[in-house]
Amino acid sequence: MTIEPVDYLVVGAGISGLSFANTLLTLAHKINQRPTLLIVEASSTPGGYCKTIKRDQFVWDYSGHFFHFSRPDIEAWLRARMPHQQLRSVQKRSYIRYASQNIDFPFQKNIHQLPQADFIRCLHDLWFRQQHYPECSNNTFKQMLYQRFGQGIADAFLIPYNEKLYACDLDTLEPDAMGRFFPQGDADDIIRNLLNPNNQSYNSTFTYPVGGAVEYVNALLHDLPSEALAFNESLESINLADRTAQTSKRTFSFRRLISSQPLPHLLKACQLQAPQDAFSWNQVLVFNLGFDTKGPSLPHWIYFPSPDTRFYRVGWYDNIMDGPQMSLYVEIGGKQDEVFDVENERLRVMEDLRKEKIVTTQKLIAHHHVILNPAYVHITHAAQKAQAQWLPVLHAAGVYPVGRYGSWTYCSIEDNIIETQALAQRFRASV
Ligand SMILES: Cc1cc2nc3c(=O)[nH]c(=O)nc-3n(C[C@H](O)[C@H](O)[C@H](O)COP(=O)(O)OP(=O)(O)OC[C@H]3O[C@@H](n4cnc5c(N)ncnc54)[C@H](O)[C@@H]3O)c2cc1C
Repeated sequence: MTIEPVDYLVVGAGISGLSFANTLLTLAHKINQRPTLLIVEASSTPGGYCKTIKRDQFVWDYSGHFFHFSRPDIEAWLRARMPHQQLRSVQKRSYIRYASQNIDFPFQKNIHQLPQADFIRCLHDLWFRQQHYPECSNNTFKQMLYQRFGQGIADAFLIPYNEKLYACDLDTLEPDAMGRFFPQGDADDIIRNLLNPNNQSYNSTFTYPVGGAVEYVNALLHDLPSEALAFNESLESINLADRTAQTSKRTFSFRRLISSQPLPHLLKACQLQAPQDAFSWNQVLVFNLGFDTKGPSLPHWIYFPSPDTRFYRVGWYDNIMDGPQMSLYVEIGGKQDEVFDVENERLRVMEDLRKEKIVTTQKLIAHHHVILNPAYVHITHAAQKAQAQWLPVLHAAGVYPVGRYGSWTYCSIEDNIIETQALAQRFRASV
């Protein structure tokens, strides 16, 4: 058996794998070093979940992907590598469909827009929340919602919406399961907002490349030599003791292995046992739908908390891009083992789009679907315990899980870039 030696074996050509490879090779080049690096990618194309589909006149991503960079240097670095790409900068218009009305997002700061009886109930429960739900140390995500916002707000939106999205019992999630992506606002903010509305959030303004999310992937590919990428090749197993990795095509010995594949799969490949059910996640079935004429021209996206409506979110590409025809993405959450009947789901989606008056006279002329599995990982106590147990073992053998699914976290592409750039910097001294 031939064993190919490589300094860095990177698993996955998504944003994380590409960003790591790009940064490491750039740093090495500066100090005149030439480490061997290979990215193995199971699929035939790069991008992971940041792919774009172009069909007829429509440009769709794997799901609504919009970008808000907190680090201007990262955005500038990417932009410098996409000089011919036009970027739109958009002021977000997002809503919640509640009792057939559109309420401004975030829900908790706009309860004054609800029907009066619901507004009074939400306000009452917010005011008396500490009497009904005293803070306790052993908190869950669901309890945190009741404690911070009271029963009215939690039951009207935060719980039904997140149950649809995460497809799980919210009592199994850690209170900080959404991290910085949870729309902030305490009781004082909510009451202040009744008088002076301010719905700023982390993504109040976002950017979007005219060519779709894949343009950021193309930017990361910009300075990578093509021989650094091997497509249609998946990592199958890793021997931690002798630092060798078996792919679907060959065997490598590595100094360091950087993996963006989902953490439970990596642990399995390394024959490391996580307790059963330590890791759980949801799936998202995404429909991209193109119509012959325009629909509602205001929203960029709307959240649907009602269990009577199949989807949890609908977004309008045409309202972001000023397009002449309605171009939607529609997202449905499911449990990790759910088997979607895609044809029936599409019929149900069309029915619910009519019921919600999003589709009236428009005709569907193009469609596409994709299932993201995993989509949102469940941040649970058991998952955190398994990570704490196995990360030191992996690191000691030169194996580094990264990215949204490797690090088993809720994050954006910017977070993926920050994380992998920092890791490459750490290795700089020994490239
Ligand atoms: C519904 C949804 C909406 C989102 N919206 C946004 C947004 O608006 N803005 C934003 O910034 N981020 C958004 N994200 C997050 C963003 O998609 C991710 O952070 C990013 O794409 C993750 O990149 P990654 O490289 O870490 O993982 P991935 O994209 O999953 O890439 C991993 C790669 O590894 C490959 N792979 C897996 N296993 C193997 C194996 N055994 N061997 C070889 N290759 C393998 C896969 O084929 C894949 O190409 C969203 C995510 C979801 C699910």
